[in-house]
Amino acid sequence: MKKLIALAALALMTQPALAEDAPEWSLAIHGGAGTLDPAQMTPEKRAAYEADLQRALDAGSKILADGGDAMDAIKAAIIIMEDSPLFNAGKGAVFTWEGTNELDASIMDGRDRSAGAIAGVKTVKNPILLADRVRTDSEHVFLMGAGAEAFAAEKGFAVTPPEYFATPARRESLERLKAEKLSALDVDHKFGTVGAVALDRKGNLAAGTSTGGMTGKRWGRIGDAPVIGAGTYADNRACAVSATGWGEYFLRVGVAHEICARLRATVEVKAAMAGDKAPDPFVRTEEVQYIADAVMEDVRQMGGDGGVILVTPAGQAIFSFNTTGMYRGRANSAGLNEVAIFGGEEKASATPDH
Ligand code: ASP
Repeated sequence: MKKLIALAALALMTQPALAEDAPEWSLAIHGGAGTLDPAQMTPEKRAAYEADLQRALDAGSKILADGGDAMDAIKAAIIIMEDSPLFNAGKGAVFTWEGTNELDASIMDGRDRSAGAIAGVKTVKNPILLADRVRTDSEHVFLMGAGAEAFAAEKGFAVTPPEYFATPARRESLERLKAEKLSALDVDHKFGTVGAVALDRKGNLAAGTSTGGMTGKRWGRIGDAPVIGAGTYADNRACAVSATGWGEYFLRVGVAHEICARLRATVEVKAAMAGDKAPDPFVRTEEVQYIADAVMEDVRQMGGDGGVILVTPAGQAIFSFNTTGMYRGRANSAGLNEVAIFGGEEKASATPDH
């Protein structure tokens, strides 16, 4: 046993130190994962998605580069994707069985693990902002439906007409689902939920997720996106995570918290084993990736699919998805700036070990 501990301590000591070339800030975003068919992706479509992802990435990056808060950066990035009809959040949200658009969102601040969430909201243009107001201006974490809307009105949020959220493409998906007795997975092809995670220059982490859910959802169905611990989690000691995918499975695995918990345990074990000699309880990028992949594999084995984005206190920005693609992007203070759609499109050097 002693030998093991000594070996672990030695291994840790030989790892590169965290501080030197770790980015000062780091941001990752997603616009949903899914069974994306490269043949269906016309150059125009691709350009449109990439442009909106890039705008979201740039908005968040600017705040972080200027020394702003991770919380502000993720909100700025998410708002742009909520306003884009291309993603299943805000404008362009999928339809419920009854033909309405019901929005869910959640946000978490890694500094103090304060969190806010809303579900089933129909008249708030940017649900992520309402989730944040629940966090800052209420004694609760999670509000739903009419109550959430009453809270929004009290806090001065404008009432957005429900038609604003409806797009012809999403309505057509609902009609096809009903006519052909399909499932949401058949008509959606991808989970278009949006999310962002960030590390700011002060070392704080934040995560947020916003969605319309899944086409044809019934009976007030709520997925993982607004559930703290399933679709969103942030803890300065471990990481910030936002998920997209088949919500029922992400709920059952508790994906976002599970990833953060495994990372935090890894950090704690490393620190304990290295004792006084610990340079830093640093978790290497491949170890972070391993943890994220293992949790996504758990989702897959249960029958679910989707993906996650995460950022660590060392600025590592990781993607993990068990679908053919995930609309995504990442940027950091070291000059990384890229958006991608299908698997394996990142530059190989994008996740260096610090
Ligand atoms: N996770 C979302 C849900 O189940 C769907 C998505 O990611 O698009 O509601």
